[in-house]
Parts: sequence; structure tokens; C-alpha cells
Amino acid sequence: MNDLYVVGIGPGAYEQMTLEAIRVLESCQAIVGYTVYIDLIREHFPGKAYITTPMRQEEARCRMALEKAAAGCSTALVCSGDSGVYGMAGLVLELLPDYPDVHVSVIPGVTAALAGGALLGAPLSHDLALISLSDLLTPMEKIRTRLQAAADADFVICLYNPSSKKRKGHLKMACEILLRCRSKDTVCGIVKNISREGQELELLTLGDLAETEVDMSTTVFIGNAQTKKIGPYMVTPRGYTVMLHGEM
Ligand code: SAH
Repeated sequence: MNDLYVVGIGPGAYEQMTLEAIRVLESCQAIVGYTVYIDLIREHFPGKAYITTPMRQEEARCRMALEKAAAGCSTALVCSGDSGVYGMAGLVLELLPDYPDVHVSVIPGVTAALAGGALLGAPLSHDLALISLSDLLTPMEKIRTRLQAAADADFVICLYNPSSKKRKGHLKMACEILLRCRSKDTVCGIVKNISREGQELELLTLGDLAETEVDMSTTVFIGNAQTKKIGPYMVTPRGYTVMLHGEM
């Protein structure tokens, strides 16, 4: 069988990879991925044929992995976090009809929202929306519409790709949309380099977030109307304390 595994390796630390991801990587002959992700895992999986590709060459990277698998070499294509959340799993499956002899398995991983949420406390205890601010593959108008809809529905919001060298103003733009229907005191959190060297987190208000610059290794959390700060933690109540008090 010509197996290709699309593996989410989690946010960075080996400890945050799933056992399934570890076992798959141990069993594969070749591992394909963006240089930064390969550097995160290389020491834990010695003796593999590593194939690294630069950023922005997603289709080439997927085809390389599919071709390797088609040639009979069991192959893993690694993505950070989860392989389906803004990852390569979808693209691999779209390209798969060109490689009828390859069998693809998608192996989930801990996405940045979950790992970052755990560092902040419990910001995701209620309904949430993940929105990427990258307009490389999505028109800006659609991103704005989704931000507005998530804000209207009072979802907790996690922003992926909040910035890049070319997209400095995107976080401010997003905050301005959210501030139309959310208080400037809404509790927010930013987490940088989750489970990697240089990990940093900060709690701040939506008003302050609008004036803050972040980079692309950061995930941004915007609370809903109930989200609060409890000591150093960002917490979105699930509603249990209200139930205990018989107010539901
Ligand atoms: N598949 C990945 C997301 C890729 S999109 C996942 O499931 O996590 C890239 C964006 O993810 C980054 O711009 C950032 O917003 C977020 N991200 C990924 N890894 C991160 C990390 N270790 N720390 C903080 N944010 C991260």
C-alpha cells in the first residue's frame, strides 16, 4: 500500500504531539514539511529521509509528498497544530485524484486555539469561531463579513494569521469591526510561540488589542460578553455557576 499520512504535530513541543502522530512518524520512511516544522521534530525521529520545502510552496510540498508515497515510500506530510485547520489536509485530498495508487490518512493534532486557550485558562468554554485574517487565499470582504457575523452572534473568536510583514493593519481592522458591537472592555488574550522557544502571553482589553501589534506566530483570543478575568486567567463561563444558583 502506498501510504501518505497528513500529520498535525501540535503547536511545537514534542509533549503536545498525540501518541498517534508520534507512532506514525516513527513508522514512516520519509517526512516532508516546511523547514520550521521539520526543525521542531527532527531530533525526535532520527534516520528518516527528510524533505524540506520553503513557505508558500504548498502545492509543490503536497505533490512531493504524494509522489514519494506513489513511489512506494511510506510518507508523512507534517503541518503545525492540526493538519486540517488551515493546514495541508484539504489540499492533499484535492490533489489525490491525480495519484490513484496513494492512500491518505489524516492524523489530527492540537491546534493553536486549544493549546493557547489552555495557557490562558479556559477562554473556549462556549461556542467559538476560528477566523484567519490572511487574505492570501480569502478575499478581505469575506473575512470582514465573517468577523461581523461572529461578533453579532457573540461567539468567542480566535484569530489565526493575525499579521505578517505585509499585513500590518489586519488586527486593527478586525478589532474595529468587533468594537461596533462589543465593549472595548471585552477580555482578550494574545499568545505567541505556543509551546516553542519565546512563548509569551498577555491578557488585555479589546480596546487595547486594537492598538497592539502582533506577529504571525501569535494567536489572538477575543472573549464573548460573559468572558472574564479571574486572577491571571481568561475564563468564558460555561454557565454552571448560574445553574448552581438556580437561575436558568
Ligand atoms: N494548522 C495550524 C494553523 C496554521 S495557520 C494549527 O492548527 O494550529 C498559522 C497560524 O496559526 C499562525 O499565524 C498563528 O496564528 C497560529 N499558530 C500556529 N502555531 C502557533 C504557535 N505555536 N503559537 C502561536 N500561534 C500559532
